[in-house]
Amino acid sequence: MGMMFAQNPKKLVRPLVQELHAYVPGEQPKIKGLIKLNTNENPYPPSPKVFAAVKAATDGRFRLYPNPTAQLLREKLAKLHGCKAENIIVGNGSDELLALATRAFVEPSVGKRSGQHASTIQFFSPSYSLYPVLAAIHGARTNIVALDKDFGIPPLPVLKKSKAWDFRAALTYVTTPNAPSGRGYSTAELEALCRAQSGVIILDEAYVDFGDENAMKLALKYPNVIVARTFSKAYSLCFQRVGYFVGHPTLIAALDKIRDSYNVNGLGQVAALATLEDLSYYRANFRRIIGTRERLSRELTALGFTVLPSQTNFILARPPRFPAKDWLERLRARKILVRWFKYPAVRDFVRITIGTDVEADALLRVSKGILKVGEWVSG
Ligand code: PMP
Repeated sequence: MGMMFAQNPKKLVRPLVQELHAYVPGEQPKIKGLIKLNTNENPYPPSPKVFAAVKAATDGRFRLYPNPTAQLLREKLAKLHGCKAENIIVGNGSDELLALATRAFVEPSVGKRSGQHASTIQFFSPSYSLYPVLAAIHGARTNIVALDKDFGIPPLPVLKKSKAWDFRAALTYVTTPNAPSGRGYSTAELEALCRAQSGVIILDEAYVDFGDENAMKLALKYPNVIVARTFSKAYSLCFQRVGYFVGHPTLIAALDKIRDSYNVNGLGQVAALATLEDLSYYRANFRRIIGTRERLSRELTALGFTVLPSQTNFILARPPRFPAKDWLERLRARKILVRWFKYPAVRDFVRITIGTDVEADALLRVSKGILKVGEWVSG
């Protein structure tokens, strides 16, 4: 019989993990009649073809492993983007791939003597709040540089002069269009940044279908550029967890080496393939969502709210006269869920996902009521 030790289980966990602040996803409460505008989900369901394909796949094949490389899906995506299947890796949501990129491209600094081999993960602030968590999990050094006051990427000469930006960072994430501001960036300015960067740069285009332009061509032109896409937002498929990267075959092969063997589940592959069979259905949804976004922005502005221009399926809006957090809480009391971020640059705003027109009307109606109460209190 071996010796028994009384263990404090906390001591079994790596210090890095003990101290980690985990990513906090938006809530998914089950409240009847809730208007859910907090996690940038699409208000419209997937195409009927997706449901038909998923139902047809619900059979004896469940006992078998799915295709390990999502081969058919990668071939179809390659056709769509005018590249080869070797340019594409599919993940369990783009989040999985964003995490894999840290392991493939960045030397962690934790545990390395004198940090000699440490390399840097870099991103702008504010941007997708997962990036700092991924860097912390990996034990990488981070370099975080502020966007300018309108959430623009500072022009190259400004970045060069400020010395804050690291043109040699091992991995740079750029959320484009930006989240949580909704601001879009031109392909020309992104190209200038990509050319100046010696490390890997991931253009995270999670919301790009709601914008004016995309930067896919840069992933096929520069060996250090990866474009990240997801089926979650524009293609109404959060539940199935499918995202992908497009980039140079050498970078894609590196990610492919270290992913789980069956990282994309079978129904996810089926659903994503069927999605690509019905793109015109989704394009009609983009147009509807953009229409609702523009109307909601106009009407909130008319009520006195400050609304930032958006190239995404959400808007940032700042209430007149009362704090953003109050607006969020009062909306919540009326079963409308929106999101608030504590970063200084956006704490005066709430982020509203664009839902249906009926949902936009409800938000406007309740917000008008809140404004009236506000006047009564302050008057
Ligand atoms: N990038 C950005 C900017 C996002 O907002 C999200 C969704 N939270 C993702 C990537 C990840 O999406 P998914 O993992 O669902 O593909």
